Amino acid sequence: MSLATHELRKAFGGVTALDGATVDFHPGKVNALIGPNGSGKTTYFNCVTGMIKPDSGRVTYKDRDLTGKAPHRIARAGLGRTFQLCRTFPRMTALENVLAAVPHGGLRSFRTRSDIERAMSWLTRLGIEHLARSEARDMSWGQQKLLELAGVLMAEPETVLLDEPAGGVNPALLDRIGTLIRELNAEGRTFVIVEHNMDLVMSISDHIVVFDRGRPIAEGPPSVIRSDERVLGAYLGV
Ligand code: ADP
Repeated sequence: MSLATHELRKAFGGVTALDGATVDFHPGKVNALIGPNGSGKTTYFNCVTGMIKPDSGRVTYKDRDLTGKAPHRIARAGLGRTFQLCRTFPRMTALENVLAAVPHGGLRSFRTRSDIERAMSWLTRLGIEHLARSEARDMSWGQQKLLELAGVLMAEPETVLLDEPAGGVNPALLDRIGTLIRELNAEGRTFVIVEHNMDLVMSISDHIVVFDRGRPIAEGPPSVIRSDERVLGAYLGV
């Protein structure tokens, strides 16, 4: 078993964001989490990665209970995550940004040569090595998203949660992100992706979980999800 949740619930005041979300993501696969706006996807990611505590229910990863644990402990268990609004340090260079993600290192000033080589190799892998000495704030939105992903990969997570990797990214970069996800998955990483771009979701996912009103209403491979009446209903509001 990989990342899973059991009966996860979370309400904000009177608004139920998660209403008993029981999900079992497929290890070693590219999983997508989709659903209409307000269906609870972001709240779900936040509960799973420790950014917020669920009111009840359980989060488990490889049979370990991670419910309510702090984000750094969840990261140490092997779960990495990017954010919808992209988290980078704007006044640090791309290289410094990736180095800041070295496990246990935090913002320590001492870097080993191998840290730097590893950071450079991730920047190269993501096609932004030419920007290593540029400050993050001078990079395009898409380049900053790649930079954030390089930082996440620097911690060598087994499972990577991506919050809208395609959001605001130009079509050329979109292709590259899709290819990268498939390549990184072929090397053994599990992905869970929240994404609105259905072309991307359908082309790269092995398994899709559809949320509506805070819980899954359907799941399966793209071929099944594409024609599922409950999914069409949730999106069209019928
Ligand atoms: P999605 O990511 O699928 O768009 P969200 O998880 O952001 O869905 O939101 C689910 C529901 O919870 C929505 O009705 C949203 O308005 C509400 N919600 C999310 N976060 C908060 C918050 N911090 N305070 C109040 N309501 C929230």
